[in-house]
Amino acid sequence: MSFFEHRDGILHAEGVALPAIADAVGTPVHIYSAGALRHAANAFTSALRDLPSARFAFAVKANPNSAVLRLLARCGYGADIVSGGELRRALDAGIAASDIVFSGVGKTDRELIDGLEAGIGQFNLELEEEGRVLAQLARVRQMHAPAVLRVNPDVDGGTHAKITTGKRASKFGVDIADAPDIYARLVQLDGLDLQGIALHIGSQISDLTPLEAAYRRIGALVFELRARGHTITRVDLGGGLGVAYRPEDKMPSLSDYAAMVSRVTRDWNVSLTFEPGRVITGLAGVLLTRVIWVKPGATHPFVIVDAAMNDLARPALYDAYHHFSAVRPDGRTMVANIAGPVCETGDMFGVDRPIDHVGRGDLAVFHATGAYGAAMASSYNSRPVSPQVMVDGDTFELVGDRLAPCDVTTRSEREPRTAYRAHNTPVRQVA
Ligand code: PLP
Repeated sequence: MSFFEHRDGILHAEGVALPAIADAVGTPVHIYSAGALRHAANAFTSALRDLPSARFAFAVKANPNSAVLRLLARCGYGADIVSGGELRRALDAGIAASDIVFSGVGKTDRELIDGLEAGIGQFNLELEEEGRVLAQLARVRQMHAPAVLRVNPDVDGGTHAKITTGKRASKFGVDIADAPDIYARLVQLDGLDLQGIALHIGSQISDLTPLEAAYRRIGALVFELRARGHTITRVDLGGGLGVAYRPEDKMPSLSDYAAMVSRVTRDWNVSLTFEPGRVITGLAGVLLTRVIWVKPGATHPFVIVDAAMNDLARPALYDAYHHFSAVRPDGRTMVANIAGPVCETGDMFGVDRPIDHVGRGDLAVFHATGAYGAAMASSYNSRPVSPQVMVDGDTFELVGDRLAPCDVTTRSEREPRTAYRAHNTPVRQVA
């Protein structure tokens, strides 16, 4: 089912023609389809509905927009967060603290305290020392922090190196070989309520084989921990399922994923947590942009658009592909390099690409930008951070403002007020 389709020759998001959004809020703009979000959110939970007491925590990093979080909360999702900022966003969106999972390899003491005081449902511990610090912070507050230990299963997710997290050399989780001893020490700590284990081997995973291998290793660990006398009630299977960015991409179906999970975890006798991100919001967004110039190039012309790596960093970061199409295609095609205006050679969206023919002033979209799109925005080159719009049926709403650092200097830039001396003397206020 597609929520972004051409009707009468004009690309629509649900019932809204994209030029209407460009007229109302300008370009570039991130556009989400509420229908597509609901469809993906419900497809994921329905595929896994036969699993006993499964819990779904949307990975906020994929799309932290408050309107998106509120919509997903209404579909039954909690939140998987990795920072104090994401904690605030999840709570502000009305997600119950008990439905929040705190992942993240470098949580500060302040973030741990904020999570504790909010009463979040699960801390995913990344190292033994974090467990000790969390236990201590909980003890002084007469609390017990619900936690699981994140284990690195040493399985290559078969995805881009920069989004692979489950290999032994990566910074995430504790080595699976060390996990039983670390678990045995942490479980004794007063203040910590250690309930099980977590894993996440990477993102944009297109083959279920590595996921299954990782889950099987974790299953073996569950039984080993039980054999050592521990009570294991929770396993967090992370996220990672990929989406089809290219028209020809083949991804595992949700029913195949659900069948695999059900087969592998059948006798674990735990409640499972899932942390999907990309598979929920990835295909539910497009980035609408306008062509500034078509500039002659050595081999092919450069289509220079007003969206940049500020708005969509994935191509510059991971050489990621995002399909590009004209909002009003005229049937002609061209081969071009698609570039943003930022002063970096890497601010490219495609090289030698066959695309719809476009010219100066035309509107076009990058597809499948709903995950890790606006979420990674920056204001590099003092460019505005793009607005975000949610379409629902034949209406649309601004759900994120254009932020214009090019027009705004901070107070400290305009008028430096706080100076610090180098040698432990107190802060001196400058008049
Ligand atoms: N959980 C954790 C711990 C992650 O680091 C990530 C992202 O890398 C996710 C869940 C979400 O992954 P994805 O968007 O691939 O589903």
